[in-house]
Parts: sequence; C-alpha cells; structure tokens
Amino acid sequence: MNHQNSQKIFSKAKTLIPGGVNSPARAFGAVGGDPVVMARGEGAFLYDVDGNRYTDYVLSWGPMILGHSHPRVVAALEKALKDGTSFGTPTAAENRLAELLIEAVPSVEMVRLVNSGTEAVMSAIRLARGFTGRDLIVKFSGNYHGHVDSLLVAAGSAAATFSVPNSPGVTHGTASDTIILPYNDSEAVRELFDRCKNPIAAVIVEPVAGNMGCVTGTEDFLTTLRMETEKQGTVLIFDEVMCGFRVDYGGAQKRFGILPDLTTLGKVIGGGLPVGAYGGRAEIMRHILPEGKVFQAGTLSGNPLATAAGIATLEELRDTNPYPTLEQRMKRLGDGLVQAAEKAEVSVQISQCGTMMTLFFSRQPVCGWDTASQCDTAMFSRYFRGLLDRNVYMPCSQFEAFFLSTAHTDALIEETIAAAEDFFCKM
Ligand SMILES: *Cc1c(COP(=O)(O)O)cnc(C)c1O
Repeated sequence: MNHQNSQKIFSKAKTLIPGGVNSPARAFGAVGGDPVVMARGEGAFLYDVDGNRYTDYVLSWGPMILGHSHPRVVAALEKALKDGTSFGTPTAAENRLAELLIEAVPSVEMVRLVNSGTEAVMSAIRLARGFTGRDLIVKFSGNYHGHVDSLLVAAGSAAATFSVPNSPGVTHGTASDTIILPYNDSEAVRELFDRCKNPIAAVIVEPVAGNMGCVTGTEDFLTTLRMETEKQGTVLIFDEVMCGFRVDYGGAQKRFGILPDLTTLGKVIGGGLPVGAYGGRAEIMRHILPEGKVFQAGTLSGNPLATAAGIATLEELRDTNPYPTLEQRMKRLGDGLVQAAEKAEVSVQISQCGTMMTLFFSRQPVCGWDTASQCDTAMFSRYFRGLLDRNVYMPCSQFEAFFLSTAHTDALIEETIAAAEDFFCKM
C-alpha cells in the first residue's frame, strides 16, 4: 500500500506540532510506524491522502456512531452554518439538545453544555467539591477521564494508595487529593469508605470502561459504589463520555438501572463536533453560576454548529434505535475475530458492551487494569499492522475500544473477519 503523501505530510507535522499530532492517541507510538493521514470519511470508510480506503473501527474514537458524513447531520450543519456560527447568547437549539439529553439519560434533570469531555469532567469534579465542601476524590485504575490534572494519576497497585502524579506538571498537592482504587473491586471500595477519615467529595467511574480496552463494570461493583457513596453524602459521577450513547440510548445507567448523581457526556452527543456536557440532579446542578456559586464558563459552549450536529445525531438514534442491531453485529465481529485467532492458536479474550469492544491478547479474562496491562502488546501490534495492510483501521493500541457505526453492514463485518483470518493464517 502506498503511503507516500501520508509520510510527507506527517514529516512536516512533526516540525510544527509536538509529535505531529494534536492528541497523543493518534500517534502510532504503541504499534510503531507513522500514522496514516486521512483526507475524507464517508459512511464506514476513511480515505487517506494517498487514496487508500479503510473500514473504520475507530470512528474518531467513538463519536461517529452514524458513520462519517451522515446525511441528516450534514444537512443540519449546512442549515446552521447559514445562520451564523456563534453568538454568545442563549439559543433555542441549546434547549433542544439539553432536552434530548435529559429525556434520554435517566439521572439527568439539568445539564450544562461544554466543549469537550475533559471540560465536562473537570467541571463536574469542581461542582461535586463545591456542593459537598470536601476535597478528596476517588478514581479507578485504568479509567481515563480526560486530561484533568487531578485525574491524571497513575494506578497504585495496593488498594487505596495516595497516588503520585504520572504526568510531569501535575503537582503533588493536586495528585494527593485523588485516591486510586482497582476497578471492579467492591471490597476495596467498602474498605476505603469504612476507614477513610476525611470525607470524600466524589467518586468518578467509567461504568463501562473504554480506556483500558473495553471492560464492563460489574453490577456488584456499580451497586456497591452507589450504596457506599449514598451513605456518606459523596457525589457519584458516572463518566459516560464514551459509553454514554454507545452501550444504549441513555447510557450505561439506563442499561444497568443504576443512577449516579452527576453524569459527564461527550463524543456521540456532538455527532463529530466538539461537545461535552455534564448534568445530574437539579439540587446539585443549581449550584453552578449564575444560579449558584460554582464557577464554570465557556465562550463557545452551546455553539450553534456543535449543537446542530448533536441534535441531528441524537434524534436519528432516538428515531431509529439501532442499538440492538449494532450490538448483534459487534458480537458477530467479536466471535469471528476470536475464531480466526484460535485457529492460529493465539490466545485472545473478547470483551464487549453494546457497540464497544476490545480483543485482548491475553490468556485470562480482563476485568481491570491489573489484567489488562498483562496483555501481549507485541502481538497486538502485529495484528494492528496486519489489518491496516488489509485496509482495516483498528485503534492503534491494545488499550482502546473499537466501535461500530450504523454504516457498518453485515457484509463489511464478514470482510473484516476474513481479513483477520488471512492475517492470522499467514502470520
Ligand atoms: C474521551 C474521554 C474523555 C475526554 O473527552 P475529550 O473530549 O477527549 O476531552 C473523558 N472521559 C472518558 C470516559 C472518555 O472516553
């Protein structure tokens, strides 16, 4: 496959932009080689600057659940564009998107729109602290919540270690307000709440984790979180930026019937434009300025283009309910990939929830960071490269989920399985 133009553009990018990318996940650091520079997306396909076509299972890392350039989203954007792109005033479209989110996500009574998932999480943490008057927050190893200082902390191996920063620039003071626990470990949660002397402001969790690969939170774990936080007046935050409109219309909380106090959203709700949101119980949300005293603002928040794409995407999802079909197709893909690997005697585990899935190169089931981090990442790299050479674009890390869109047909899924079989048998 010819990647001449890609290579030329990426070489230049490296002189202009750190690492040549505006977000590190895009670099092929984990799998080696240079990333492919894309020019265009249509339906389930991406086209690179050399004219190669790929079946896209990254989908902009989650948002493009309707596929690229979906006609309803494009039409909504064209219409919004003609009316001007930003006013810095209230608009009716903001109400519409807020209404759709409140109708869909069971625990959300009021919502604030922001520009990214990171911003949503950062604001929700501040709100939880402002609301409770407490400092400490709890997160789980292997969960990613955007590049918020207080959440960019490494997983300690012992339960409830006060952690150290894992990015230079995050101060010890900030990191020491964050407690790390292992994911899916109910006992560790109970123990912490029993013995922690300082009251905890918030527990934040990905109810279906997507950032150590796809790992589903168990019912026992999520129920324990709900019970323990409720007892102590701690705000439970579900970070549904990724799983929000991926595991069901209305998110993991809808699928599992477990309700948090606050929810953060992003990715799908912007339909490919920059949108984030945080929402929850009105009693808490009313603490945000100007109704309350917790400061949070944004020049472009609720931007007309972004809200138009979000509304069109959510309305299409609500009207068509593609989730059961998508889930079935994803299951077929997972089964096919496992069979292909097993034929070549490669040990793999499939982990799926809704339209999120990861193929782990591992002998043991993956239920948290401890097990995820033991995967055969060298094997994953070969697999990634092998599929890329066969025009299949998977996420370039073992620790990312892959996604489906409504544009991925059964035939395309079979084509991808055949590509995987071809790779494993020639390997
Ligand atoms: C992607 C993601 C974020 C960060 O969102 P950005 O829009 O990239 O800032 C936060 N939390 C989760 C669970 C995510 O998957």
